Amino acid sequence: MSILSAPHFHNEEAAYAFVEARVWPKGRVCPHCGVVDRSSKMQGKSTRIGAYKCYACRKPFTVKVGTIFEASHVPLNKWLQAMYLMCASKKGISSNQLHRTLGVTLKTAWFMSHRIREAMRPASLSPMGGNGGMVEVDETFIGRKKGKEIRHGYEHKMKVLSLVDRETGRAHSMVVDKLNTKTVRSIVLENVDREARLMTDEARHYIKVGRKFADHQVVRHNVGEYGRGEAHTNTIEGFFSIFKRGMKGVYQHCSEEHLHRYLAEFDFRYNERIANGVDDVERAEKALKGVVGRRLTYRTTA
Ligand SMILES: [Zn+2]
Repeated sequence: MSILSAPHFHNEEAAYAFVEARVWPKGRVCPHCGVVDRSSKMQGKSTRIGAYKCYACRKPFTVKVGTIFEASHVPLNKWLQAMYLMCASKKGISSNQLHRTLGVTLKTAWFMSHRIREAMRPASLSPMGGNGGMVEVDETFIGRKKGKEIRHGYEHKMKVLSLVDRETGRAHSMVVDKLNTKTVRSIVLENVDREARLMTDEARHYIKVGRKFADHQVVRHNVGEYGRGEAHTNTIEGFFSIFKRGMKGVYQHCSEEHLHRYLAEFDFRYNERIANGVDDVERAEKALKGVVGRRLTYRTTA
């Protein structure tokens, strides 16, 4: 049977049940007062799907409150379709394609994809390369900065710094304004365990910070070297190649203010990839776990 024939993709009530089971695995939580399992389904013909009333604070709520789905009029089953498509497409899916496939406006498709990218952002990150693991660090250049003329070199391009933990196979990327010793140093120190073995190319900005780690191997691409045994940056180059194919082939235009969102998307799919034991369905489930708390913070009450 096709994965796309699952009821939660076609029926809004089934979609609510699907999301509720994942957002409230330990019982229904009132997003207004935090009380668990003290609410009942609202009755009546005009009642919205998935509406509950809290016995404690008397307020109505649905599972959408406090999630990326809040304040959206798009049926929840369409949201689940969009999430599945974004999770299952290796190079991503454009807003234009989502607009045509889901039958929503282009503006809505754009809004939905940015919200989904928000859900893909990791909740917390621990330093890479603990216990002497190898961490590759490298940079890449993409697109063009606003108002910058195209010149030789990379000055006019947007800059991305990524780290890949070779042991866990996970990537973490960020947009950087300037690629210099100071910026690179603070990012690397913040994200890599001191016991790690660092793998970089010969770029000058890695030299000093490299001394802070258990080991620092440098691959000299400028003299045609591609690696010596364990000392290489092939893993991170593989990650960049997926990212670039997606950005060029699918997304085409991206401004610097949104680039970090696209990076979160490519990091997410890379980290939750099949080689790391995650299939398309599980990847969509993982994205769904990230929908909570990305839009509003829960109100805390005594
Ligand atoms: Zn309540």
